[in-house]
Amino acid sequence: AIAVRSLSKSFGRKDVLNDIELTVRAGEFFSLLGPSGCGKSTALRIIAGLERPDRGRVLLGGADVTDTPPHRRPTNLVFQQGALFPHMTVFDNVAYGLRARRTGRAEITRRVAEILDVVGMSEFAGRAPSTLSGGQRQRIAIARALVGRPDVLLLDEPLSALDLGLQLRMRRELRSLQRQTGTAFVCVTHNQSEAMEVSDRIAVMNDGRVEQIGTAEELYRAPVSRFVAGFIGEN
Ligand code: ATP
Ligand code: MG
Repeated sequence: AIAVRSLSKSFGRKDVLNDIELTVRAGEFFSLLGPSGCGKSTALRIIAGLERPDRGRVLLGGADVTDTPPHRRPTNLVFQQGALFPHMTVFDNVAYGLRARRTGRAEITRRVAEILDVVGMSEFAGRAPSTLSGGQRQRIAIARALVGRPDVLLLDEPLSALDLGLQLRMRRELRSLQRQTGTAFVCVTHNQSEAMEVSDRIAVMNDGRVEQIGTAEELYRAPVSRFVAGFIGEN
C-alpha cells in the first residue's frame, strides 16, 4: 500500500529524517514506534502530504505521490485529539468529507450509519461533540476518517490523550476496526506495549532513522541493536 524510499528531511540544520525506507502492505496494521523527537510525526506528515521531503519518494498503491497534494492522496489522517467541528452534530461531522465530494444524500446516510455502527456510536448521531467523552470523540474522528474508505489511515498517537483504561480498551477496538475494514493503518506511537499489542509489523525509529522493522516477536527475540532491545524490553 505504501512505499517510502530514501526519505530525508531537515529543519534548519537539524536532520529530522535520515534515509527512511518503509514498506507497508495493503490491509496491514503498521506502527512507527520510537521516543519523543525521533521523527515519527514528520514521517507520517510526509506520507500524508502535509510536509515535503528534501529527498526521497512516497509511493501509494504503486503511484508516486511525492508531488501530490494531501486531498488527492488515498490517505486520511487522525490526530492525537481528533478535532471535531463543534457546531455540527456527530452525523454531520462524519458526513463532512462525503458532502465535500458531492456524494448523494441516500448514500451519505447509509455510509455514515454503517461506519457509526462499526465504531459503536450509532446512538450518538444527533449529539453535539461537546457532549461526548474523549474516547467517544476520538471514535468519531476515526469514523470520519474512515467513512470515505481511504486505502490507508494514518494515525498520530490516536490514544495518547485518553486515560489508561480507555487506552487499553481502544487498542483492541482499533485493531478490530482495522481488521473489519481491511484498511492499512499506519499508527505513530511512543508506547511500546501499544505497538506490540496491535501491530502486524513495527518500525522502531531512533533519531531520524529506522533501526529495525519486524513483528513484535521478531523485535523482542532478535533486536538488531542495544537501542531496540532497550526500547522493546521496557515496561
Ligand atoms: P513526539 O513523540 O514528541 O511527537 P516525534 O517522533 O513525532 O516526537 P517529530 O514531531 O517528527 O517527532 O519531530 C522530530 C524533530 O523535528 C524534533 O526535534 C522537532 O523539534 C523537529 N521539528 C518537527 N517539526 C518541525 C518544524 N516544523 N520546524 C522545525 N523543527 C521541527
Ligand atoms: Mg509526534
